[in-house]
Amino acid sequence: MGVLSMKGGDGEHSYANNSEGQKSVASNAKPVVVENVKEMIVKMDFPSCIKVADLGCSSGENTLVVMSEIVNTIIATYQQKSKNPPEIVCCLNDLPDNDFNTTFKLIPAFHKKLKMNVKEKCFISGVPGSFYSRLFPSKSLHFFHSSLCLHWLSKVPDGIVENKKNIYLRSPCPPSVYKSYLNQFKDDFSLFLRMRAEETMPNGRMALTLVGRKAVDPLSKDCFQNWSVISDSLVDLVSEGVVKESEMESFNLPFYNPDESEVRKVIENEGSFEINNFKTIFGLLFSYKTGLTEVKDDDLDRFEVIKKRTNIIRSITEPMLAAHFGDTVMDRLFDKYTYNLAQRYDTLRNIPTVQFFVSLTRK
Ligand code: SAH
Repeated sequence: MGVLSMKGGDGEHSYANNSEGQKSVASNAKPVVVENVKEMIVKMDFPSCIKVADLGCSSGENTLVVMSEIVNTIIATYQQKSKNPPEIVCCLNDLPDNDFNTTFKLIPAFHKKLKMNVKEKCFISGVPGSFYSRLFPSKSLHFFHSSLCLHWLSKVPDGIVENKKNIYLRSPCPPSVYKSYLNQFKDDFSLFLRMRAEETMPNGRMALTLVGRKAVDPLSKDCFQNWSVISDSLVDLVSEGVVKESEMESFNLPFYNPDESEVRKVIENEGSFEINNFKTIFGLLFSYKTGLTEVKDDDLDRFEVIKKRTNIIRSITEPMLAAHFGDTVMDRLFDKYTYNLAQRYDTLRNIPTVQFFVSLTRK
């Protein structure tokens, strides 16, 4: 699965420049993260070294924003009890193809912002590898964070060759295709929990943010419209002779957006973690930065919004699509995407994204 990665660098289509929305999702998760870090420290009686990891850190500053929240929470919690601050190890994990360097270049600025007495005690490292495998020694981590990653499966599920004109679930689609996606999610998420269970210290915690869906029916309209726009754009390119039909028919995304009960069931069946908190939020995933301020859709002109949304989707999917269809068709594909999105923008603009904030404790 070497091709799953967000677009690196800091160019127009890069993840680093198109992930304001993901950053605001992480800030929605902040209260949950803060509360769990505090409780974990008290329960573990103020350890002298705390190891935390961000799984699926991607490239750009989002992961460092989260890490500084965690570090600041740790420091404040020790200060309140007049204890010396601990040494803190921050591990940034993603797949080996991730552009870690774009993040690493921001580390000096991250360190600079930390208070003097903390600076020398905070150690950052990169951990390339899949979170569906072991990443850390046994019982070595205190706290795991992961935002907007677990909808990425370890691979495209088997048994979905019948899914031809779509790159993900969409009605009409044979029930076996939905079942294959669901089973892959169950296997993967369960494996993720089992790996973390081995790596987490007793009473260690996790804060996970997942993109999910509200409807029980995975084929209902709101389930992931952005991918339908890609499917339609590919179909257009097939009819124009730019993309081969067989290429389009054989492409599927390794993605699944579960509903709440699917997530809960996997956690309960796997059995290593107790759910502290399960919060659902309906939010809009898209927010943009223009100049210095963050703005919502309504403040921008329509064309600007559509272009920006295209870039967001491009920053997430281009490496995967380019590996299958070739680099040379990417501009054409995303021009089509812009066009198709404009056609149905009024229906699409207000479809909320369902976000689950889940915090867990190692039993
Ligand atoms: N947490 C960041 C990035 C989210 S994008 C943020 O909120 O902005 C999702 C990230 O998960 C991508 O960088 C992708 O490469 C990573 N990812 C997907 N599957 C993964 C896996 N199996 N192991 C590690 N990282 C993975």
